[in-house]
Amino acid sequence: MLKNKRLIKLTVSLFAVLSCLLMMLTVSGEEDKEVLVIGVPADRTPVFYVDEASDEIVGIGVDVMRIAAKNAGYEPVFVDLQEATLKDALDSDAYDVVMPFGSAISSTEGKQSIVSESLIETPFTFVTEKNRNLSQFRNLKVGMLRSQSGVAETVRQRYPGITISTYETMDECVKALRGKKVDALLHNSYVWSYILQKPSYSDLKIQPAAVFSMEFRAGTLDTPKGQEIMERLNQGIGKITDTQRQAIALDYTSRRLYRYDLSDYLYQYKLVLLVFLLLLVSLIAFAMRRQKAASRKREEQIRQLVDIDPLTNMLSMNGFRKRVEELLHTHPDIQYLITYNNVRNFKFINDSLGREAGDDLLRFWGRKLLENLSEEETACRITADHFAILRRIQDEEKIKQDERNIIEPVRNFFIDQGKGTRVQICTGIYVLTPEDYQKIDVDKTLDFARLAEQRLRNTRKDGYEFYNPEEWKRGKQVADVCGRLPVAIREKELQVWYQPQVNYETGEIIGAEALCRWNHDKLGWLRPSEFIPILEEAGLIYDLDCYMWNQVCQDLQRWNQQGQHRTVSVNLSRCDIREELNIPGQFFDLIKAYDLTPDQLRIEITESAFAENPELLIRMTVKLREFGFQVEMDDFGSGYSSLHMLKEVPVDRIKLDLDFLSGAGDPERGRIIISHVVQLVQSLGMNLIAEGVENVSQANFLKSRGCIEMQGFYFYKPMSSSEFEELGEKPSSKNPEPK
Ligand code: C2E
Ligand code: MG
Ligand code: MG
Repeated sequence: MLKNKRLIKLTVSLFAVLSCLLMMLTVSGEEDKEVLVIGVPADRTPVFYVDEASDEIVGIGVDVMRIAAKNAGYEPVFVDLQEATLKDALDSDAYDVVMPFGSAISSTEGKQSIVSESLIETPFTFVTEKNRNLSQFRNLKVGMLRSQSGVAETVRQRYPGITISTYETMDECVKALRGKKVDALLHNSYVWSYILQKPSYSDLKIQPAAVFSMEFRAGTLDTPKGQEIMERLNQGIGKITDTQRQAIALDYTSRRLYRYDLSDYLYQYKLVLLVFLLLLVSLIAFAMRRQKAASRKREEQIRQLVDIDPLTNMLSMNGFRKRVEELLHTHPDIQYLITYNNVRNFKFINDSLGREAGDDLLRFWGRKLLENLSEEETACRITADHFAILRRIQDEEKIKQDERNIIEPVRNFFIDQGKGTRVQICTGIYVLTPEDYQKIDVDKTLDFARLAEQRLRNTRKDGYEFYNPEEWKRGKQVADVCGRLPVAIREKELQVWYQPQVNYETGEIIGAEALCRWNHDKLGWLRPSEFIPILEEAGLIYDLDCYMWNQVCQDLQRWNQQGQHRTVSVNLSRCDIREELNIPGQFFDLIKAYDLTPDQLRIEITESAFAENPELLIRMTVKLREFGFQVEMDDFGSGYSSLHMLKEVPVDRIKLDLDFLSGAGDPERGRIIISHVVQLVQSLGMNLIAEGVENVSQANFLKSRGCIEMQGFYFYKPMSSSEFEELGEKPSSKNPEPK
């Protein structure tokens, strides 16, 4: 038994030693295998490239070469070529063989090389843009990578008609193709299978027929060692089967080896990206808008808190200040007044009727104000029972309306409730002056109004008091005149009066001046000096003048029909001298419409108009005279008469204002000047009429100097149209030498 055991032990030990020996033999056999260092360009996926997972050089060329080397008893080690070209690599000691070669070439140092048998046939194909088909290769312009210059050389030899341009990168090749610099690109189809996976090259297609095949060989310098390697390698290559080659090529060309870079992702997902970006932008915009709206709302709430009085819902003093500034800025043409209002017996009301009753009154007053103010007006509660109002200056009617609609209901607030207490309101009024519009200071204007209110309160009365009554008068006048004008025209409150003009020698009435009279419904008869300057300032004078001219023409037409061919002078305001009004054309249309002759209208233009726009005045005068109207220079001598004007404005008649004689200064000197003016005007070939002749001595003096046409109270005062009509053509009784 023991003997058996020993035998078993010995057998096992022997087996172990034998196994070790066998293993050692195997290992030493593997260690004996010669290492073959093969240099390849590792940037040609899928032929040679570095596998990301294993970090080893793999590819079709590597796998075929590995089989060949192993068949030849080598242990192949693949390394990336460090040299720029295969020619340089041949001269390096770092590699036993270098790949890939089509045929043997000499090294950079000029040494001869030898190459192996072909490892695999590589198909080369054309790539074009998708819409293109290549039918023939003659005269084809082809683009290739510069690193493929060896292949390019072979192609040139095989297809002499083809022109080849080389480019550094594939992107440059594709650019040349898209830019029609070349018709097609050429590369080996294994590489195409990789390159065309790039999304931005999806518009390219492989031309189906492979053009030609290139051999794929290993090479080394022609040395004894080189020859020995090649000999062994060739034997190894000879043992590779076609099935092995096809399997390797299929394996690599069917893999998705192409790795997307950022630009590929951008290209591939550009639509999604765009939509995403748009979405993002709209989201941001939406968020910003919401944020803005929220902050605006907050601001508005704060503003409301500051600008609104919570008790009456009217503006606070702060809001009022802003609103007044805004209104004065936007409506500099509106005449405003500002009032400071105070309930005189408010303390009594609070004490006797209770605070709540006092608050009710304030709310009521505020409501009444808000109901009755227009868009261009505003009001506020300053504090307690003090109110401020910015109101446009109203005409008489509207003031009464306010009294009815606001003041009276507030005064009678408690009486109407049967509580018997009359509310006493004290109002101080300040009328805004033109300077207040220039430099807006709401607090200052309100201070003035408050001063007036205090003055009134100290007298122990209620009602209202003006800080500046003169301004008020003027403001009210403006409101009364301008506010009423359209109605006045419609209601015939405006009338044409005529002041006859006479020939002092013959006593004959030679014409008349049309003068405006206004029978105002509230203010009674108004003289032109009370409304003409106001209308001129308000820009409304043209409306009045048009009305006057029309009325005059109507009268002239009637008189014509009665057989009296009369001539009337009409006034033209200096404000009517505006290009766009085309005054000459308007007068022409008027005489046409009323069937008059142009000599029946004399147009009086006041002397002061010359100073404002001489060129336009001259143009207008010339035009009026071309139409046949006579033009007169009104008020000559009353303003700052200029010799220039006499020289430049071609008028027919000068109207000499006798105010010149009665005004300040030595009357004798005045007479001397008039004598010479008469002479001067006559020498210039113009007619002359003296206006404002008030007595016989003035008339005789003028006549003695040669001025015989006159107008003035001495002869006739302005009279209504019917009076003038009745006057007929009978001579003036003031004629010293009647015919
Ligand atoms: P004017 O054109 O110089 O008219 C003459 C003014 O002198 C008239 O005043 C007339 O009543 C006044 N008058 C006439 N004779 C005498 C006199 O002997 N002594 C005195 N002291 N005055 C006399 P009236 O009607 O008050 O007109 C004043 C001015 O108003 C006119 O001066 C004219 O410039 C303007 N005016 C009158 N009507 C119109 C009109 O329809 N349109 C325009 N644009 N202006 C008018
Ligand atoms: Mg006049
Ligand atoms: Mg005059």
